[in-house]
Parts: sequence; C-alpha cells; structure tokens
Amino acid sequence: MPELPEVETIRRQLEPLLREKLLLGAPLKALLPQRLFSLKRYGKVLFMEFETFYLKIHLRLTGNLVIKKLPEKERHLLAIFRFEDQRLFLYDIRKFSEVVLLDKKKFEKQVSALGKDALAISLDDFRQIIYSARRAIKTLLLDQRKIAGLGNIYVDEILFRAEIHPLKQANTLAEEEVEKLYQVMKKTLKRAIELRGSSVRDYVDAFGEKGLFQKEHLVYGKRGKPCVKCGTELSYIKVAQRGTTFCPRCQKI
Ligand SMILES: [Zn+2]
Repeated sequence: MPELPEVETIRRQLEPLLREKLLLGAPLKALLPQRLFSLKRYGKVLFMEFETFYLKIHLRLTGNLVIKKLPEKERHLLAIFRFEDQRLFLYDIRKFSEVVLLDKKKFEKQVSALGKDALAISLDDFRQIIYSARRAIKTLLLDQRKIAGLGNIYVDEILFRAEIHPLKQANTLAEEEVEKLYQVMKKTLKRAIELRGSSVRDYVDAFGEKGLFQKEHLVYGKRGKPCVKCGTELSYIKVAQRGTTFCPRCQKI
C-alpha cells in the first residue's frame, strides 16, 4: 500500500504536469479545461489544485498513478486524465482508489481532518502527540488523524531502527526515546523517498518503475529471519489487527 514515501515520489514525478491544462477526465467534464496549479500531499493523500477546484487522489491499497505520453488500453484502468501534452493513468487492481472533486472549503476540511504530516511535523508537536496517547506506540503511529503518512511497512521499520517495542504504551516512552523515534522517522522517510519508495506488491512510481527501499527493509516481511543487529529470530504479532515484525531482544517493552 502506498505510504508517505511512495505518494511523495509520485507527487514529485508529476511536477512536469504543473501549469499544463487538464482537457479531459471524468468526473470533471463540465469544468474543463483547467490549468494545474499545485500538487500537494498530506500524509498518504495527493491533492491536485486546479483553477476552481481540487482533485483528491487516495491510492488506498493497490492504486498506481502513471504518467504517459501515449494512450493505451490496459487492464485495471480506473481513470484517465488527459493534459495538453501528457496523460495520467490511474490503475487499481482492487479498485479501492478514491478520486474526489472538492471545492476549496471541502479541501481545507479534508486536510484539517488529517494529523500532522510525518515529514513536516516538528519535534514539539510530535512529543505532544506521543505523550497524550495512552495506547500502543504502533497503533498511534498508524492513526492518520494523529500523524499522517505512516502505514504498516514504515511503522515497523521505524520502530525497529529506534529500538522501541511496537506494543509499548506511547506516553511511557522516555524523553530520549521520543527524540530518537522522531529523528529515525524523518531519516527513514527521507531515505525511502530517495529510493522512490518500497515495491513489495503492486506499487510502481509515476514512471511505472519499481521503488528500491524494500532492499533496505530490516524487519517488514522478515518474520522468523535473524535480526540484522543481534541475530535473534524476529517475532511476529498482531497489533491493531496488523501483522507486526520486530526483534524481541532489540525492542524491549
Ligand atoms: Zn535484535
């Protein structure tokens, strides 16, 4: 599922579309043509700002946005957006992706319903969110209304790198642990963006290429394998109904 690094990769790759006019694309027919003014990302959600409206694109589990010059007929195509020079294709094998037309007011409402973006959040805000939550740190980090952008892959990778047990109650973390978690979160997300995200199942970037960060995964999808730090067999549990891999020795509760 595309998380912050994957959606940010796509957002950056779509920048050549800026200032181009969108000519065709359901459900916008009556409103077109309109120029694309900005590409924003909050958490895992992409917002395209046009002259009089916003388009929200949420790729959910298996959505892929791919930019191409030529029209094609392919399977799992959910939508086509035709700009002056290029076309943007939305593919989704499971069809859970969301494309919603929003006016400015609704756009602002949607953004304010999301928590602070994981890449943009300040240490002070992060600390405040952690210390006001009496629940497992993993559950908190997955909550898009608190901190937006992290999903199962990056939460497991970040908690392992910060050496924090996924079930540890958030407000019991030591001050140094919170700071380490914050630094590790930023570093891991930036590295994943550099490598254009993680391709574990269907994800490809906006040029149809696989990301490379999965090669640097240390725990996600590695249950039963030895920990890269201490050699202990990695454990697997469910946290908030999500499969969770961690090292029982490096990540003490
Ligand atoms: Zn270990």
